[in-house]
Amino acid sequence: MTSSTDIVIIGAGPTGLMLACQLSLYPNIVFRIIDKNASCTTQSRALVIHARSLEILAQLKLVDKALAQGTLADAMKGYFQGKRAIKVDLAQFRTKQQPLNTRYPHVLFLEQSATEQLLESYLHEHGIQVERNIEVIDIKDFGDAGAEVTLSNGEILRPKYVCACDGARSIVRHKLNLSFSGRTYSESLFVADCEVDRSPCSTKEMAFFCESTGLSGIFPIRDNRFRLIGTIHEGYQDDIHLSIDDVRKIIHTRTRRSDINISNCNWISVYRSHHRHITTFRYRKHYFLLGDAAHIHSPVGGQGMNTGLQDAHNLAWKLAYVLTHSAHDRLLDTYHNERFKVAENLVNTTDRAFSFLSSQYWLTRLFRLYITPYILRFLIQPILNSSQRLRQYLFRRLSQTAITYRSSKIYDYGASAGQFHRTTPLPGDRFPYVIFEPCYYHFVIFENQQQSTKVKLFIDFVKEKYSKIVRIHEEDLPVRFEGAILVRPDGYIAYRTTVFDINHFQAYFSQYLLFENI
Ligand SMILES: Cc1cc2nc3c(=O)[nH]c(=O)nc-3n(C[C@H](O)[C@H](O)[C@H](O)COP(=O)(O)OP(=O)(O)OC[C@H]3O[C@@H](n4cnc5c(N)ncnc54)[C@H](O)[C@@H]3O)c2cc1C
Repeated sequence: MTSSTDIVIIGAGPTGLMLACQLSLYPNIVFRIIDKNASCTTQSRALVIHARSLEILAQLKLVDKALAQGTLADAMKGYFQGKRAIKVDLAQFRTKQQPLNTRYPHVLFLEQSATEQLLESYLHEHGIQVERNIEVIDIKDFGDAGAEVTLSNGEILRPKYVCACDGARSIVRHKLNLSFSGRTYSESLFVADCEVDRSPCSTKEMAFFCESTGLSGIFPIRDNRFRLIGTIHEGYQDDIHLSIDDVRKIIHTRTRRSDINISNCNWISVYRSHHRHITTFRYRKHYFLLGDAAHIHSPVGGQGMNTGLQDAHNLAWKLAYVLTHSAHDRLLDTYHNERFKVAENLVNTTDRAFSFLSSQYWLTRLFRLYITPYILRFLIQPILNSSQRLRQYLFRRLSQTAITYRSSKIYDYGASAGQFHRTTPLPGDRFPYVIFEPCYYHFVIFENQQQSTKVKLFIDFVKEKYSKIVRIHEEDLPVRFEGAILVRPDGYIAYRTTVFDINHFQAYFSQYLLFENI
C-alpha cells in the first residue's frame, strides 16, 4: 500500500515527540509519527531539563506538569580527591535578586521516561497516536522527485518531508550516506539508577567526584533514588556487564566514602560516548535530521535531549508555515543555518570539557587533580560568590537561553529599520520577557508617542493584512526602546523597527513569507 502525507516523523523519542506536539498545533497539517518500539522509554536516560526547554514546554502548557513531577536542583558540588573544591548555589537563581531573563530559572531533574510520557499524553489528548511497533526499514531518495519510506508492515509512504528523529543510529542518515564525523572516546562510561542511603549530596543536589582512578557523579532522581555515573578506564571491556558490587566499589573509591549504601539498581548500563555531528541538517529538499540523529556528544552538562527538543521547536513552525501559509521553501534552509551552528558549538564545547575531565595523559591528569581544585576553590568560587555577571553567564550557557541566531541567513537583509540603543535586543536574539502563544508572529509595540500617527497606520496595516499570522501586543516590558519588535513563533526576534516603515517591513518579510497568499 502506498500512502501520501505532508510529513513523516521517524522516531518517537523526545525529539520526534516534541516535533509532533508542535505540528499538532497546526490543524491543517497531515503528519505521521512512527516508532519501532512498543512504548516510550522506561529508562531514566536524560535527567536534566534546562530553562530553554522549560520555556518550550510552557508554550505547550506542559511546564507545570513537568515541574510538579520533577525535582528542582538546589546545588552542584565538585570534589577533588575527597575535598570539596566548589559549590554552585542553583537555588539562588530562583530568587528575584538574580535577573536571568527567563521565567524558569531552574535546573529540573525529570527522567526522560517521564518527559516522553508527558509529550505522548499531550499528543493523545490532541487526537494523535504514535504508530508503534513499526520500523522504517528503507528510504529511497528520488532527488527533487521526493522520498519513499518503507515500513516493516509493508506500507510505503511518499511524504513531502521526512524528519529523521531516529536517534544516534539513524537509519535515515545511513541510507542517505550522510557522514557523521567526530570520534568515539576511549573511556567507557557507566550509568546506574539505584537507591542510595547516606549519599554525599541531598535529594536536591548533584555532585561530581574527581579522583586519580576517574570521574564519578551522583544526581538525584526522586526520594532516595539517585543516578550514579562514572568513567571506566582499566580492567573493563566495552560491552561488559557491570554488577551492583562493581558500581558500589567505584562509587566508594571515588567518593572516599565506604559508608554509602547502594541497593536496588534498576538500570545499569555501560556505553562509549562519542562526539559527532552531521554537516547538513537539511539534506536535499525533503530530509531534515534532528536530535541524536544529527548530533551526539558526551553527557557533560546534560545538553543532549534539550538540544533535540529545540531542534524540533525550530523546525516545526517553519514546516508549518511552508505547508499552510505558502512561505518560501528557503525558510526551511534556515533550520540548518540556525541549528547546525548550535550543534557544532555544543559538540566542541562538551568535547573539550569531557576530554579534560577524563584524559589519561599525565600532564592533564596532573593539572586536573592537583591544580584545578585550587583554581576552583581559591579563584572561581570567590568570584562566583561575588559576581552576579559570572553567575548569570554560567546559567545562560548551561540553560541554553544564551543561544542566538543572529548570524542566520534569515537576517541577512534588513531585519532592523531605524536607530537603536546598544542594549536593544537584536534580530536573532531570544525574546525573553513573554512566552507568547505558539503558531503566530507577535508584534510588540513599545511606548512611542512622537510617532503615534505613523505607529497607528503601521499597526492598522499589519492588523488588516496579516491578521492570520501576526498578533499585536502593547506590553510594559523592562526594555528601553521606542519602537516595535516582531517575535517569531519560536520566541526569537524576527524584526525590529523604530521608524514604522510599512514598505521596509513588507520588503523584509516577503523574502520568506508570501503574504499575498495569506
Ligand atoms: C545514560 C544517558 C544519560 C543521558 N543524560 C542526558 C541528560 O541528562 N540530559 C540530556 O539532555 N541528554 C541526556 N542524554 C541524551 C539523551 O538521552 C538523548 O540525547 C535523547 O534521547 C535524544 O533523543 P532523540 O529523540 O533524538 O533520540 P532517541 O531518544 O534515541 O529516540 C529515537 C527514537 O527513534 C526510534 N527509531 C530508531 N530507528 C527507528 C526506525 N528505523 N524506525 C522507527 N523508529 C526508529 C527509536 O525507537 C527511538 O524511540 C543521555 C543519554 C544517555 C544514554
